[in-house]
Parts: sequence; structure tokens; C-alpha cells
Amino acid sequence: MRAARARTPRRPKAAPGNVLKDPVGVYCRVRPLGEQDAERCVEVVSDTTVQLHPPDGYRVFRNGEYKETQYTFKEVFGTLVTQKQLFDVVAKPLVEDLIRGKNGLLFTYGVTGSGKTHTMTGSPGDGGLLPRCLDMIFNSIGPFQAKRFVFKLDDKNGVDVQCEVDALLERQRREAMPVQKTPCGKRQIDPEFADMINVQDHCKVEEVDEDSVYSVFVSYIEIYNNYIYDLLEEIPYDPIKPKPPQSRVLREDQNRNMYVIGCTEVEVKSTDEAFEVFWRGQKRRRIANTQLNRESSRSHSVFMIKLAQAPLDADGDNVLQEKEQITLSQLSLVDLAGSERTNRTKAEGSRLREAGNINQSLMTLRTCIEVLRENQMYGTYKMVPYRDSKLTHLFKNYFDGEGKVRMIVCVNPKAEDYEESLQVMRFAEMTQEVEVARPVDKPLCGLTPGRRFKNQAFKDELSRKLEARGGPVIGETEDQSVTEMFLQNFPPLPSCELLDINDDQTLPRLIDALEKRHRARQMLSEEFAKNALAFKSMLQEFDTKMVSKENFAQGKLAEKEKAIAGQKMEIERLEKKNKTLEYKIDILEKTATIYEEEKRTLQQELESKSQKLQRQASDKRRLEARLQGMVVETTSKWEKECERRVAAKQLEMQNKLWVKDEKLKQLKAIVTEPKPEKPERPSREKDREKGLQRSVSPSPVPNPPPVRLRHRRSRSAGERWVDHKPSSNVPTETVMQPHVPNAITVATASEKALAKCDKYMLTHQELASDGEIETKLIKGDVFKTRGGGQAVQFTDIETLKQESPTGRKRRSSQSSPNPPEDGAESEWTDVETRCSVAVEMRAGSNLGPGYQHHAQPKRRKP
Ligand code: ADP
Repeated sequence: MRAARARTPRRPKAAPGNVLKDPVGVYCRVRPLGEQDAERCVEVVSDTTVQLHPPDGYRVFRNGEYKETQYTFKEVFGTLVTQKQLFDVVAKPLVEDLIRGKNGLLFTYGVTGSGKTHTMTGSPGDGGLLPRCLDMIFNSIGPFQAKRFVFKLDDKNGVDVQCEVDALLERQRREAMPVQKTPCGKRQIDPEFADMINVQDHCKVEEVDEDSVYSVFVSYIEIYNNYIYDLLEEIPYDPIKPKPPQSRVLREDQNRNMYVIGCTEVEVKSTDEAFEVFWRGQKRRRIANTQLNRESSRSHSVFMIKLAQAPLDADGDNVLQEKEQITLSQLSLVDLAGSERTNRTKAEGSRLREAGNINQSLMTLRTCIEVLRENQMYGTYKMVPYRDSKLTHLFKNYFDGEGKVRMIVCVNPKAEDYEESLQVMRFAEMTQEVEVARPVDKPLCGLTPGRRFKNQAFKDELSRKLEARGGPVIGETEDQSVTEMFLQNFPPLPSCELLDINDDQTLPRLIDALEKRHRARQMLSEEFAKNALAFKSMLQEFDTKMVSKENFAQGKLAEKEKAIAGQKMEIERLEKKNKTLEYKIDILEKTATIYEEEKRTLQQELESKSQKLQRQASDKRRLEARLQGMVVETTSKWEKECERRVAAKQLEMQNKLWVKDEKLKQLKAIVTEPKPEKPERPSREKDREKGLQRSVSPSPVPNPPPVRLRHRRSRSAGERWVDHKPSSNVPTETVMQPHVPNAITVATASEKALAKCDKYMLTHQELASDGEIETKLIKGDVFKTRGGGQAVQFTDIETLKQESPTGRKRRSSQSSPNPPEDGAESEWTDVETRCSVAVEMRAGSNLGPGYQHHAQPKRRKP
């Protein structure tokens, strides 16, 4: 017999960093106030908050100090909450986890009388969490349960699996064993408990893996005075000297889970059966308490439900014989001892000592929770003292390993429990700050789902066929198979032990029994042959049908294959097309990248060029502005120069014209009428004078009256000159410079100056045709006009011209393109040309201002 074996719980270890953790779920249940209790100290404030206030007496005792304290939990259940509601919230998720192969721990905590047992076990007619858990488990896995002994728990906290035939043989073997006579040998459920299990909830887990088989094992232990007792241990009953229960030892399995060595684990197939086992343990507990004079509230009871599950094989008929595929999960339901302190009980002697020990267990539990919390909150690595008590040591793996942990804090609202309830609340609040690693999902087996359903459908069909042919029906009750029925049909063998030589009855009885067995065997053989034949023909028929179905299926298959082949070709074509398109896309993407690159380069170039252009434009603007400035400057300079030259030319021309005119008139007068007196001024002169008068007179008279010409004052008499030198004249630096002593020099014609003088001289410069400056000294007499103004009559013109000694001839010929008709004009080096009107020439050829000698004459261009 080969058996696969698994340890519990067998799970892959997750990396420490990836572990998901959930806090311990702490719920609070407040029981109703007892009839005899008058005052309450606990109020449910909300769904999650409960408030404690000190009772009246307490206040008096504490000098009127009054302080309400509130505690928050995952959920708070008031007095009206039903067992079902509590189960749905607290225990149902744990059962769901159990069926999915995950571990769970649920415990009730509180002082004695707070309702722990009522919550966990229930009261008659009002089943608690334990029967409800069992009910839900069997409601969920009922149809998928394995045959008894298919799963076998070993003594090392592991589980074995064996085939159904081996399981059947083992069952027979065990049933043949004599039943030990125990006080509770007659297994009958106490009506009190029978009432309790009648939960009628029909609650079940929705998604159970139907392709697995399941087996439930229960064990029930009690921890009392830091000793572990197996409440399901079958102790031979001795009414005279009953054997005391033996304490058990804890051990760690290879998966570091704690287990009780040699603890009875009973495979149960229904809620009734499981509860019956529980009841048995409960009964044992009561007896022990009575016999050993123990306080029941001082012990912790632990009811453990183990669920073994393994997948069905590929046919969906038998359980897979692979130990790696077995999952063993565990749900522990713990009813803790009363959490009250020793002084609260009236215990004496040994019972006081026991009470102290019990408190020691709870104290250790508190310390462990405190250290765990501290380690988790502050990242410390303090050692958690699990080993200090059996209770904490047993559940070490839940806090250190993985699983879902839930606690129900039970509170009695009566006033006397106030102080104890405070302690309970503080511990409970702290507990919910501890985190426990979330259990991981069981691994998948990798076989096709729906195997069980297919196998069942096949069996049903076969059974229907056999029935139709009158053969045996293939159907099984829960614990009875066809093989089992055959085995039971055989008559039992009588004893074949010969004790007496004259015994003539044993052998004939044996022979008779053997003959009967032989006949029965023959009958069964015939029946078997007949059935085998029927089965064979049925199989043949089935085979033919199958063949025809197969042919049909093959035809269909061929069609489908053809269609598939067509589709495959289409797929291939599309794939090729896809590849081509992908290739094209690739190329296009590459081209796009190149273009993008080019675009980027061109953009950069464009940017640099535009920057350059901008620079050039700004340079150009600057240059333009500069040029414009220069042009304006030059233009204005040239304009001024031109104006100046034009003015000079105009003056020259006017003077020339006037001189000519004057010469002509005077010559004419001389020729026609030579008079010693001064001739009348020609009209042109008059005009000229008019113009001059207009220009020099501050208040010109439109028609001045004729004036009597004054006689020219002699030079000896001290003539005064107005020396008119326009500011535009250029200094010539000739050797001979005109010099008029006792003269008023003016830059513009001034009437004031004319009024003081009787002679006028204008120094006029002009550009000669040879490019040299020609200076003319135009002289005249000043007359007073009748109107009170002054008039000038020009009498003499002296021309002073510079000449280069080398170009003298040429210049002399050119200097005077129109030489004066009277030939009076002469030339000098440092030329002074004198041109006078005839009258004046006579009278004043030696008149006029003299010349001062200047050093170093210089040629200068105007
Ligand atoms: P504990 O186990 O904490 O010592 P029990 O569960 O034995 O307390 O409860 C003491 C009594 O109070 C029992 O008679 C029980 O029926 C009753 N009781 C406890 N809780 C409730 C409840 N929620 N509703 C009604 N009765 C309750």
C-alpha cells in the first residue's frame, strides 16, 4: 500500500518584503444584563464603539472621579445581535478560507459569565459559532467528500492519501476490532446539545472546487493549569478506579507548525457526527472537572477542525495519489478561560494556585501580543515569549506564520465587572494593532476542471444502461459500494478450532459453511459471468456506437479540420501581410526618422541664416543712418558753400555791371558835354543809389528830394572813411594790404557810420577767371540826402589781384578778359589794379587809402 503524505499547512514561503498583512480582527459582543443585575457600566455607542463608565459605587469610592472611556473595534455587537448575524460577520470568512486551504484562528476573550461559551458553543436552541462553522463546512463540501480513510492523518501533523479500495479494507479492519467499553460508548447526542446543533442555516461556501475531494478531522483539547489534555482520548473505563487523563506534549512539525503529540483526530462526515465528537469531549471535560474538583471557567478549550483536500485524477474518478497535491488547512475555535484576576474569585488552596496558572497563560498571551505589536510598530526584534505558556506556544504559528486571526471580546455590562471589563478592553484594543501575514492561495493542480461532473455523467449513463438490461445498478450509498455488498453477502465462517478429539460438529459446520460459501461463490460467479457477458455485450454495443459516433465525429472533425486548415491558411496569409506591413511600417518609420533629422538640421540652418539676416539688416540700418547723417552734413555744407559762392558771384556781377554802366555814362557825359562840374548822376546810378539808400537808410523816403552834392573834403582837411569789409571776405595775406587811417570799419552798411563820415570804401572779393581771388576797393563820396539820410556816389574802383610769378604772362592776359576801355588798369606784382571814373581819376588818382606792406605774401585759393 502506497500512501502519499503531506504536512500541514504546506505552503510556498513568500519573500518577506512581499508579505501582505492583515490586522487581527477584533469584535466586541455585549451580552444582555442579567436579571439580578441592576446597574450597567457598558453602553454600545455605535457599530464600532463601546463606552465604559464607572458604576455609582465606584465613583464614591474614587472620590467622585468620573471618567468615561470609549473603545473602538472592527465591529461592536449589542445585546440584540443574533448568533447567525455574528457568525456571518465573524466566522463565515474563516470557513471560506478553510475551504480554500487557508488557516484561521477564532477565540473568545472575556471574564467569566461574559458570554464566551454562549458565543462559541451556543446555548440550547441557539447554536453558537462552532456548530455553525461545522454546518457550513459540511453544507459546502458534502457532495465532494472523500470515502472514510482515503485521507489519513499521521502522528506528525501530516496527512496521507490512499486509494478507495485500500480505504475500504482499512475500514473493515477497524470495524472488526472490538469496541472499547467507555462511559460514553453508547454514542447518543445529549438532547441539550442536539438542540444546539440544529442551526438549520443552509449556509455554504459558494465556489467550492468540485474537482477535489475533502475530508474533515476534528480534535478537541483542553489547556488547564498549563497542561494539555486530549478531550477525545478513548480511556478504558474503570468504574472502580477511573484513570486520570494524561497531559500531552507540544511539538513543532517540519513546517514549523505546532501540534499536540498523539492527539486524537476524528474523521467526521457530517455536522451531527462532528458535533457528537465535540459533545463527547465536552462531556469528558465536565466529568474531569467534577472528579478533579476543577473550575471549568479556568480552562481554555480548543476545538480544531482540519480539512484535507486533494484533486481528483484526470478521469474524475479517484483522488490523485500525489502528496504534493494535498492541502491541509485548519480552523481553531478557542474558548479562553475567564480573564478575571485571582482576587476576584473566592478560590482557595490548590484552586487558587490553579487560578494563578491560568492567569499566567493569559498574561503570557498579553505579553506576546504586546511584544509583537511593539516589534511591528517600531521595527524592533524583541523575542516573543510564546514558549512561556502552552496556549501561546500552540498558536505561535498563527502570529509568526500566516493565517486569519479573529477575536471576539465578550463583555458583561454589569457594574461589578467594570474593572475587569476595562482590562479586557485595553487588551483587545491593543490586540487589533497586531498584524498577521495574509494566507496565500493554494496552488492549482493543473488538471482540466469539470472532471467530477464528466465522470458522474458517464456513471449515470452506464447505470441507466445496466438497469435497462436487468443488470446490477452501479450506485453507491455514502459508505457502501458494490464490492462491500458482495463481501457482506458471504456467510460468516464459524470457529474452526478443534478443542476435543470427539468434536464432530465443528468440522461438519465448517464444511457446511464452506459449501454454502462455495455455492454462494458459484452463484456470484455465474451472476458475475452473466453480468460480465451483459456488460461485455453492452460494451460492444457501446463500442459500436462509439465507433459510429467516432466516425461521425471524425467526419465532422475532418470537416472542421478542413475549415481550420483554410482558416490557418488565411491566418498565414494575413500574418504574411501583417509582416509585410510591419516591414513597411518599419521602413516608413526609419524614413520618417531620417526626414525628421533632416528637418531638424534644415530648421537649425534656417534659424542661423535668419539670425544672420537679422544681423545684416540691423548693420544695414546702422550704416544707412550713418550715411544719411553724413549726406545731410555734406549737403548742408555744400549748400552753404554754393550759397556763399552764388552770393559772391551775384555781387561781382552786380558790381561789374554797375561799374560798366557807370563808366559808360560818365564817358558819355565827358564825350558829349565836358563840364568842370560834376555831371548829373545817370539814371542807372540813381537807381543804384536808390537801392543803396533803401538798403542803408533806416527810414527810406519813397521819393527823396534832390540833394545838393557836397564838395569833396580835401584829404588834408582830415577825411573820415567808412571802411566796409563784409565778413564773408577772405584774408588774402598779400604784401600790400589796403590801409585806411582814421576810418570806421564796418562789416555791414551802417547809416550811423555813414553819417559820421564823408568817404565810403567797400572791399569786395571775387573769384577771377584764373581761379585767383580778386579784391576790389570800391570808393565813393557820402552825401546827405534831403530826407536826412545818406547817399554814396561811387567814384573809384581799385582792383587788387594776386598772381604767381611763374604764370604771370598767362594770367595777365587772362586776368582781364575785358580790359577797361580807358586802359587805365595796370598790373603789379602783388597786383593792385586801379580803375577809376575819369573825373575821379583826375582829382583823386593819388587819393584813397594807402597800402601797408605785409610780410611774406601767400597764395591762397578761396
Ligand atoms: P462565559 O463562557 O463567558 O463564562 P457563558 O457563555 O457561560 O459565559 O454565559 C453565562 C450566561 O450568560 C449563560 O447562561 C448564557 O446563556 C448567558 N448569556 C451569555 N451571553 C448571552 C447572550 N448574548 N444572550 C443571552 N444570554 C447570554
